[in-house]
Amino acid sequence: MPTLEITTMIGCPLKCTFCPQTELKGAYEKENDPKNKETKYLSLENFKRIIDKLPKHVRIDFSGMAEPWANPQCTEMLRYALDSGFKVAVFSTLYGMTEADADIVIDLLKLNRDRIDVLCIHLPDANGNMLGWRHSREWEEVCTKFIALRTEDVIQRFSFMTMDGSGRLHDSLNHLSIGMDGWTGHTRAGTLDDAQMRSKDYCAQTPRHDSAVGCRTTPFYDHNVVLPNGDVVLCCMDYGLKHVIGNILTGKYEDLFRSEAMNDLRQTNMTPEFSKCSLCKSCTDATAYSVGYDARWLGEKDAQLAEYLYHLDRINASPWWQFGMWLNKEVLAPLRRIGGKKPDTEAR
Ligand code: SF4
Ligand code: SF4
Repeated sequence: MPTLEITTMIGCPLKCTFCPQTELKGAYEKENDPKNKETKYLSLENFKRIIDKLPKHVRIDFSGMAEPWANPQCTEMLRYALDSGFKVAVFSTLYGMTEADADIVIDLLKLNRDRIDVLCIHLPDANGNMLGWRHSREWEEVCTKFIALRTEDVIQRFSFMTMDGSGRLHDSLNHLSIGMDGWTGHTRAGTLDDAQMRSKDYCAQTPRHDSAVGCRTTPFYDHNVVLPNGDVVLCCMDYGLKHVIGNILTGKYEDLFRSEAMNDLRQTNMTPEFSKCSLCKSCTDATAYSVGYDARWLGEKDAQLAEYLYHLDRINASPWWQFGMWLNKEVLAPLRRIGGKKPDTEAR
């Protein structure tokens, strides 16, 4: 669905091995001084300016390219988004969330539960992929409050996860007895240097699409990510800031979709060859298109089905196939019927 993910700060302190933080910092800091707090952290004032520009059908995701509560103003941002009538999703490690924050956040989530699309708590895993996480009494208190919230069963899509295929929690949290499924990562369309991952077995390979592509999850390219300086990037794969489609603080939301960067991307994606200029051409979430025999664009599954039907039509039309069908119907089937008829005596 149309979504704007909010990146509340640059330089996530959790440093998960499956996350291209180095690539993000490198690209962002080329244009933004890392010592400048105004561009390192999204201010509450700028957050409100962004929210006020968005159409109401856009979901606000507290996720982005950093732990949202690594910015101490995140609780007030959540309150503002909900008070403004938006649907919201929250993805958090609970890092930076104080006990007082947790009480407010949980009250807000319960009060607005019809507009909470997703609540996902990302926990540290047994293989140590969340490098920056340290256990603390306050973190555990906060986590316990969210475990209690889940037992109340008031938020529909509420899950816990790790970023690790084992699905096992960090050893220091085993007493919490939270059951989770395994998880499979990806290289974020080739943005991540996979040498940094602790458990590579759980990572899908980077595809290389030589065909035309579209986005399977967001066909209108409208699940975007905003950075603290207002720049909006294509999607959550774009940690290298390859496709900055505009700036929401200086322009309108609609401008993002008619920008030069967006048009370039669409044009590259509709060209049936690989290109390094488009992230989508290396993305696990892309749908590859080919032209069917009747000159229509077909997605992967449609293309396979169309090819099958095409060959089936040709087989049905072949004289040998038709002769075989006639032989079966007019000669072999009657013979089988005669051969299978048992004499009356035997039948008794
Ligand atoms: S996966 Fe999330 S918590 Fe981990 S480093 Fe990336 S943004 Fe931070
Ligand atoms: S990079 Fe992947 S997720 Fe992002 S718009 Fe392209 S296909 Fe979709």
